[in-house]
Amino acid sequence: MPSPGEQGKLYLVGTGPGDLSLLTERARMALEESTYILGNGVYLDFLDPLIAGKQVIRSSMGKEVERAEQSIKLAGIHVVSLVSGGDAGVYGMASIVLEVIERQGIDVRLEIIPGITAAQAAASRLGSPLSGDFVVISLSDLLTPWEKIEQRLGHAFSMGVPVALYNPRSRGRPDNLQKALEIAGKHLADTVPVGVVRNAYREEEEVLVTTLGGMRENLDRIDMHSTVIIGGEETRIWRRGSDVRGIITPRGYHRKYTY
Ligand code: SAH
Repeated sequence: MPSPGEQGKLYLVGTGPGDLSLLTERARMALEESTYILGNGVYLDFLDPLIAGKQVIRSSMGKEVERAEQSIKLAGIHVVSLVSGGDAGVYGMASIVLEVIERQGIDVRLEIIPGITAAQAAASRLGSPLSGDFVVISLSDLLTPWEKIEQRLGHAFSMGVPVALYNPRSRGRPDNLQKALEIAGKHLADTVPVGVVRNAYREEEEVLVTTLGGMRENLDRIDMHSTVIIGGEETRIWRRGSDVRGIITPRGYHRKYTY
């Protein structure tokens, strides 16, 4: 088994939704300390001001295994940051890195730095739609069979808790969101609030508050840069007069207190 490098280290850095102000201090310190920065081009662009002068290795979507192997190899002797949007442990690079390390039996110094995941970023723009228990499901069937995703959607919506959908719609799978909404419709009323945040905390951010029924007319506005939050049985639209302010899922204080 190769011995660990003297000063090598691998940071798995969650970079949050895409604005430098939402990067943690610890993530900044890891980037600062690193000689090599690896990541998907999309997630690296907004880090430009922090990584000037470093060895930056950009790769594309679908090359995750190679990126993981390359980072581990470099981390034998260098300080390396492998960046992942949002949180590296939520549909990110953390698991593949750990699996490769486990399989190869390598000893590498490793630190995983958490980031703000898309569900949190989107929820903050919508109000408080995820106030208690909630479920997160990705509609990408690249690594999970679609039948399994459908089963999980059925279970999730049957619980009546809010459900955050990642990877809701892409060119390769334009119909998955529609299918997911049909499954939601079997368990929830058409009036259940739905929030969509596209490009949260990035340029071109868009926020939409609608209902399950209203989603039919809005499918075209949703793409792979969007997170969709479907409310649960207690979720309601927050209004002030005729203005829609956002979405609230009560945590249950009304059952205990008067306010
Ligand atoms: N590791 C990431 C998720 C990667 S999966 C995280 O923790 O956030 C990619 C999906 O995340 C996208 O398809 C989209 O659904 C969601 N997403 C990531 N960044 C987003 C953003 N800024 N705004 C809205 N959704 C986002």
